[in-house]
Order: sequence, then structure tokens, then C-alpha cells
Amino acid sequence: MSTKNVDVAIIGAGPAGLSFALSLAKSGLQILLVDQQSLDSIAKPQLDGRDIAMTHLSKTILSELSVWQRFPEEVVHPIKEAKVINGPLGNEKHSLLKTPALHFERQDDAQAPLGYLVANHQIRQALYDQVCEYDNIEMLTEQQVNYVKTFSNRGVIETSDYVVNASLVVSADSRFSTTRRMMGLSAKMKDFGKVMIVCNMKHTLSHENTAQECFQYGRTCAILPLGKGFSSIVITVPASEAKRLTDLPVEEFNRQAESMLDGRLGEMELITERHSYPLVGVISDRFIAKRFALIGDAAVGMHPVTAHGYNLGLRSADTLAEQIIKAQQGGKDIASSWVLHNYEVRHQLLSKPLYEATNAIVELYTNDKPLARIARKAALHIGNQFMPFKHAVTHRLTQIR
Ligand SMILES: Cc1cc2nc3c(=O)[nH]c(=O)nc-3n(C[C@H](O)[C@H](O)[C@H](O)COP(=O)(O)OP(=O)(O)OC[C@H]3O[C@@H](n4cnc5c(N)ncnc54)[C@H](O)[C@@H]3O)c2cc1C
Repeated sequence: MSTKNVDVAIIGAGPAGLSFALSLAKSGLQILLVDQQSLDSIAKPQLDGRDIAMTHLSKTILSELSVWQRFPEEVVHPIKEAKVINGPLGNEKHSLLKTPALHFERQDDAQAPLGYLVANHQIRQALYDQVCEYDNIEMLTEQQVNYVKTFSNRGVIETSDYVVNASLVVSADSRFSTTRRMMGLSAKMKDFGKVMIVCNMKHTLSHENTAQECFQYGRTCAILPLGKGFSSIVITVPASEAKRLTDLPVEEFNRQAESMLDGRLGEMELITERHSYPLVGVISDRFIAKRFALIGDAAVGMHPVTAHGYNLGLRSADTLAEQIIKAQQGGKDIASSWVLHNYEVRHQLLSKPLYEATNAIVELYTNDKPLARIARKAALHIGNQFMPFKHAVTHRLTQIR
């Protein structure tokens, strides 16, 4: 076993872990990233079907980290408007049965986008490439962390080949974090009993740069607008139905997708693999322990419907790094309980209401009991009329700092 002594050890080199390492890079602290994946899968991430909707604040943070500048122009897709539609899509065309829809668009600048879509593997690629620019960030790969313990003066993690001593240990090891449990932190998990299928499709009609979330009875379909004539299609169904859809021959899947979207994108053609993600939401009861903090999905793993996951992960990395750098500049302990407390309070205030609100939306829009159907029609109607609500949502998407 080799021993390493660092300032900050980060478990998990996913989007949150890499972002956090970059947020600390300029401080000069010695940072170590530890991941169970191979270097190849981190250095050359493969397409995983996820297109990540990002807010303007995420763009600001990634630009400050010199990551946004690494995206080739053609991989960043602006979202001009967003629409939430309730009920079967076909009804939208009939004025009498008109399906209620909630619209979000920018009031301040009609030309500016609401947000941006970038494929997850492109984000991971840019983060990794930027991490390679810093000598004070080291990465251990193919090293699963199987022991974590923290003491008053240091934290210790162990893998099969290394013992690492660090002033601070940060876990970014996914919503199913095993190190969170090793540290004795409890979490609430919600299994939504559904699976999300994501893929990219070409189509003959324009998506008009509008993201659409269609809550149909028994399933949810979303259109995320990518380049001209192609979109990311997201279908949420029970697990048994997901298997059927992913096993369908491509031609049949194309026809099913056209029918689920009621032909609004014209003829459709699958152009990537279909990837499935079981839907489980997780929130840790505490985000910190002695010389230890959780960030990213390990702290809060959101249902993707409101597209907050990575945006929140980035905020957690940014908030924790800010507190650490403040302490370092003041000559104080970077992992004191005060530093960690400041991080926890801020990130809980931001993420807990979003987590609860997202789960409430999922509950309301996937419950097909008659009363729930009436309630969600009413909610959409009120949401559409109540301008402060729409402004608050739009503001959250477009605020810069
Ligand atoms: C279908 C789908 C669509 C989404 N859409 C959006 C969206 O539009 N907008 C948005 O903001 N978010 C979205 N998200 C959420 C976003 O993808 C996640 O929030 C983000 O990827 C989480 O990053 P992370 O680094 O916290 O965790 P992960 O990406 O899960 O990375 C965890 C890392 O930890 C490593 N690891 C785990 N255990 C150990 C261990 N014991 N030892 C060493 N290493 C370990 C793993 O190998 C991995 O590299 C979506 C998610 C899904 C599933």
C-alpha cells in the first residue's frame, strides 16, 4: 500500500467531483481525485444519452472554471422556450378539448435563451481536459474507496492500493454513495418505480428550440431541442414497458415515438442507442460530518424532470469551494466545523425546497386518479395566469450570479 498526504481528497471523478477539483484548483491546495473507473473512461467519456439542461448560472460557473470555453460551438444548444403540457397531445389541436400548457419564456430579452443543452459526455470531457491543466490536481483511477474515517486533525480513505490522509474528504460518488453510509450519514430515498429512456432522434418538423414536457396518462415524454432537425427524446414509463420499448426494432420504435408525440416532430428516426435510467431520488439528511462533506448527487440526487441535478451539483461544488478558499486566505483550517457548517446551511437552503418541489410535481403529474387529473389542470391554469410564479421560475433559470 502506498501512502499519500493531500489537502483535499475527492471520492468520485464524475461531473461534480471534477467541477469541485477545478473550483479549488487556483488555491494551490493539493487535491486528489479517486475514482473506481478506468482512466480511459474518464479521459474519453462515451455518449450516455443524457443531454443536460443548464441554467445561465451554471454557464457562468463553468466559464469561470474555463470549462465552458472548451465546448465546441456545435455542441451547445440554446433552449428558447419551455412548455409543460398535461394530457394527451392530440387534444392540443382541438379548441374545445384544448390541453392546458404552461409556457416559460424570457420577458427581459425575447432573443436570449432560457438555458442551454450540452451532452453529458461533452461536459465530462471538457471538465477532464481542464483538470489536466493543473499540477496540483492528481487522479487515482481504478481505485474503489472501501474505507473512510475522519478524526479531529485529518480524514483517511483507503483503496486496495492506497492509504490517503487528507485535511478534508469530499464524497461525490453518486446518489448511491457508499462512502456516505461509511460516514454514518442517513439519506431519504424515493424510488419512483419508473425508468427513463433517453435517445437522440432526427425528425422532419422543427422543434422550434422549445423544450417540451408532456405528461400523458401512464407515461411522460419530453423533447429537448438539439441541432436543426434533431432532438433528445426522453420517455418515462414503468420498468416493464421500458424493456419493451428499448427492445423494439428501430423502425417500430420510430413509429411509436411519432405516435407518442402525436406527429408534432413529423417523421422520426433513432440516431443513437436507447439508454435507460431507473428513477430514484435521494437526499442526505446531513451534508457534512467531521472533516467530511457530500457534494453532487451524493448530497442530493434529483428526479431529472426539473433538470436540476448537475446544476445543483455545480452549485454545491462552488459553494463549498468558496468557503474553503475563504478559510485558506484567512490562514484558518480549511475543514473546520464552521467552514463545513456554512456550506451545509447554504446548500440545504437551496436544494431542499427544490428536491421537495420536484417530487411534488412528479407526484401530481404522474398520478392518474381523476382527482389528481383535475388538480393538475388547475395547477397549470393557475401557474400560467400567476405571473410572479412564472417570473420566479424564469429568473432561477436565467440569473447569472
Ligand atoms: C436521464 C437523466 C437526465 C438528466 N438530465 C439532467 C439535466 O437536464 N440537467 C441537470 O442539471 N442534471 C440532469 N441529470 C442529472 C445529472 O446527470 C447528475 O446530477 C450528475 O451526473 C451527477 O454527477 P455526480 O458527479 O454527482 O455523480 P456521478 O455522475 O454518478 O459520478 C459518480 C462518480 O463516483 C465514482 N464512484 C462511485 N463510488 C465510488 C467509490 N466507492 N470509489 C471510487 N469512486 C466511486 C463513479 O465511478 C463515478 O465516476 C440527469 C440525469 C439523468 C439520469
